Amino acid sequence: MTSGLLPPQVLQAVLEQLAESVLITDASGRILYVNEAFERLTGYRREEVLGKNPRFLKSGRHPLEFYQAFWQGILSGKPFRGVFVNRRKDGSLYTEEKVVTPVQGPTGKVEYLVATSRDITEEMALKSRLEELSTLDPLTGLLNRRAFSEQVETDLLRSGSRRALAYLDLDRFKAVNDTLGHAAGDRVLARLGSRLREALPHGVVGRLGGDEFAAWFPAKDALEAREKAQHLLRAVGMEVVVEGQPVRLEASLGLALYPEHGVTLAELLRRADLAMYRAKAFRLPHPEVFTPDLDGLTPQTLALEAEFHRALASGKATLWFQSLLDLRHQTYRDAEVLFRMESPRGLLNPLGQLDLSRRAVNEALDRFVFSQIALLQKRFPSLRLWANVTPWSLSDPGFLALVEQEVHRGLHPERVVLEVSERLALPHLSRITPALWRLKTLGFRLALDDFGTGQTSLLHLKSLPLDFLKISRELLWLGRGEGGESRVGPILAHLVEMAHGLGLGVVLEGVEREEEVALARHLGCDLAQGFLLHRPSPEPVCP
Ligand code: C2E
Ligand code: CA
Ligand code: CA
Repeated sequence: MTSGLLPPQVLQAVLEQLAESVLITDASGRILYVNEAFERLTGYRREEVLGKNPRFLKSGRHPLEFYQAFWQGILSGKPFRGVFVNRRKDGSLYTEEKVVTPVQGPTGKVEYLVATSRDITEEMALKSRLEELSTLDPLTGLLNRRAFSEQVETDLLRSGSRRALAYLDLDRFKAVNDTLGHAAGDRVLARLGSRLREALPHGVVGRLGGDEFAAWFPAKDALEAREKAQHLLRAVGMEVVVEGQPVRLEASLGLALYPEHGVTLAELLRRADLAMYRAKAFRLPHPEVFTPDLDGLTPQTLALEAEFHRALASGKATLWFQSLLDLRHQTYRDAEVLFRMESPRGLLNPLGQLDLSRRAVNEALDRFVFSQIALLQKRFPSLRLWANVTPWSLSDPGFLALVEQEVHRGLHPERVVLEVSERLALPHLSRITPALWRLKTLGFRLALDDFGTGQTSLLHLKSLPLDFLKISRELLWLGRGEGGESRVGPILAHLVEMAHGLGLGVVLEGVEREEEVALARHLGCDLAQGFLLHRPSPEPVCP
């Protein structure tokens, strides 16, 4: 049997060998005892600390109130539990989970304080690292997408002041990864992270993923936004040396302004992204601010548009020909000119994928086509050229000025037929009619293209100064199916008759089969066009 009490020498051994650090002071806070674990934890030897007040361990990390609360609890006789950040003898910080127990003497007064503590430095470091990881991108140290979005969104709720969102995408970063390896690529990104942060001390910079970054910063107008964003581009352009190799990056940067371009993060991001795509497509070396005409465009359209402009500027654009057969004389004296450009994907017509209602596109196209027509007329003096124009050209005073200028320089309008598509023209009819009359007065012939798919009644056409009707190939092709001929035949016959009644010449286009030529003849059409007769080619059929 034992009494349950340990002899003093056993108690001493227990204290000495306890894994927790133990510190015992008297009521005034003078250290009476520390164990070996204390020595290991703090780096102080026992002789150095006995008789002293433990305040030499203070890190300065806790406010005064922390210690006041501590002493209040202790003096009232209650144990105090808490996490302390203290300083070791070598100056380094450690975090301990501490319990300080007041121990009463025989009189009931607090005579000793016993502090036991557990070192949780590593646990805490791990925890804060995990927290960091959930907000910071581990590679660049920038905010990750989620944290960046949260910051911007909180800011949007609070802030009435004007700001800008920058969307930055590295150009050809894949090449860095491919040539130097992914590890080197990662080092370049890590370096870039700190540079971007330094470039924008009053903003928030985040990595949205891969080689895409975003920044959110105060800017009172577009000018200031551009200036600040220029710092980001400059940071990207600074040389980085990896594996002994100097690497110089480039980026494209788009800006959206708060509040004029959007009041939500999603809207601002979308529009900054569109502006970024324009910067990338046109290889702009400066920040590009969003403009409303970008809405609705896809990055692919923008890239193609830029390719189109480059092709025009570098002689990679050309006109091909598709000759038309004169059914009465069996001759090819007419040819439609069709736009083509060289691209990495071969020679193609990009116009179907471009937005021709965009003035810069339409204008550049017309400028090219009409300058070419003037040259082609010299090369093929007996040919009549048919050229396509859009309703957007026809409602633009600049277009008429361009055409008049070409006529003035020697273009022969009487040897040109201008085609405008019925479907495109229809919604703009009243706006384009004056231009059609002006062109007619200048001497051009006019044709309504792809007729029969829109809703224009032939009578409607009486008010337009037209010379030709090109019957839509879709309408012709409707006649191809089982019994199609008997359904479409009468419609075509009626169209041709009405057109002739109005004094218009008729073209049947999309002719791909012998029987369709025969049909054109039978209907009394004037001209026929189609792959069977002549496929679009670099040269017209010689008359
Ligand atoms: P569009 O005015 O209807 O021009 C005829 C298009 O139909 C051409 O395509 C031609 O290759 C195609 N085609 C002609 N005959 C046949 C046929 O028998 N079968 C088939 N399957 N297709 C045939 P392309 O050259 O790709 O041109 C497409 C459109 O692009 C043109 O349609 C025109 O609206 C526009 N376009 C072409 N060049 C110009 C231009 O210089 N300016 C403007 N504004 N538009 C142009
Ligand atoms: Ca056409
Ligand atoms: Ca056509």
